[in-house]
Amino acid sequence: MEIAAFAAHGPGQPLERFAYRPEPLGPQDVEVQIEFCGICHSDVHLIDNDWGISQYPLVPGHEIVGVVSARGEAVAHLEVGQRVGIGWLRGACLHCEWCLRGEENVCPERQATCVGHYGGFARAIRVHSRFAFPLPDGLEPAAAAPLLCAGITVYSPLRQAWQGHPLRVGVVGLGGLGHLAVKFARAFGSEVTVFSSRQEKQAEAERLGAHHFLSSTDPAQIQKAAGRLDLIIATVHVPLAWEAFVNCLRPKGTLCLLSGLAGTLNIAAGQLMEGHRTVKGSTVGNCWQTREMLQFAAWNGIQPEIEIFPAGRINEAIQRVRENAVHFRAVVDFRQAFNESRAADPR
Ligand SMILES: [Zn+2]
Ligand SMILES: [Zn+2]
Repeated sequence: MEIAAFAAHGPGQPLERFAYRPEPLGPQDVEVQIEFCGICHSDVHLIDNDWGISQYPLVPGHEIVGVVSARGEAVAHLEVGQRVGIGWLRGACLHCEWCLRGEENVCPERQATCVGHYGGFARAIRVHSRFAFPLPDGLEPAAAAPLLCAGITVYSPLRQAWQGHPLRVGVVGLGGLGHLAVKFARAFGSEVTVFSSRQEKQAEAERLGAHHFLSSTDPAQIQKAAGRLDLIIATVHVPLAWEAFVNCLRPKGTLCLLSGLAGTLNIAAGQLMEGHRTVKGSTVGNCWQTREMLQFAAWNGIQPEIEIFPAGRINEAIQRVRENAVHFRAVVDFRQAFNESRAADPR
């Protein structure tokens, strides 16, 4: 049985229908029938081979929501018919020091869902069951999809900064990641300052719950937050004056960068020593954080704000993500996309 999918056949190419024969279902694996998949900027970078690692045909997609359709003989914690989410990771070694600490996201042998494997723009996918997370009641399946990458990417640094007392959080950039960072930070009881280069985003920031709004490119505006923030989550894909943002940190504060396109930092050692400040990078969270994030989102009513595209408009959706024109996250509906192949399945 083949799995029908949408693939790019070369850098920057539009996606076309494609089918592949999956690996046999391992004892710890699950097969998931895909209902929805979000489009992340990383998918566009992979389609365009911006990182020089893409292999074609390339099936993108790592913000997956679907229903378990088969499980390996050793899988006891997921039922056929159960709705799950799958994010950037599809597997890890599960025995190295990092995996044993629950830090699968830094395992040297971690496997990305759509790098060297066929991703979620497809009828189905097979992954290790540890990386398929039950979707809690209360999360709407389409809107939940972006939680699996955008959501966990901003939740993870917030969760690590959280020490049981309210945080003063800065969010740089108000796009797919930024709008979720505001929502999660508010749910953690934080005072939230949004930094954006676009003044017209102020009303949106306030609607989402931000207390303050400052320009991310005007030094005088950034200076207004000097010494005021415990955590700054930088979601933008452009270089900014990061040394000015470090000066916004309170003692023990952290600047967390979430995009490799944030550029090269020029920060004096003394800036970090003063107040014991930290600058760090982060990608996605680990398994326990992802599971916790989904439950936290469900209990706190946190849903990504999405535009839904039918699978037939997948290339239009990708182009809108490429142009930063989506409000705030694009999700593709695959439920009707493969009706013929679904009917032909001998299940
Ligand atoms: Zn992503
Ligand atoms: Zn490992």
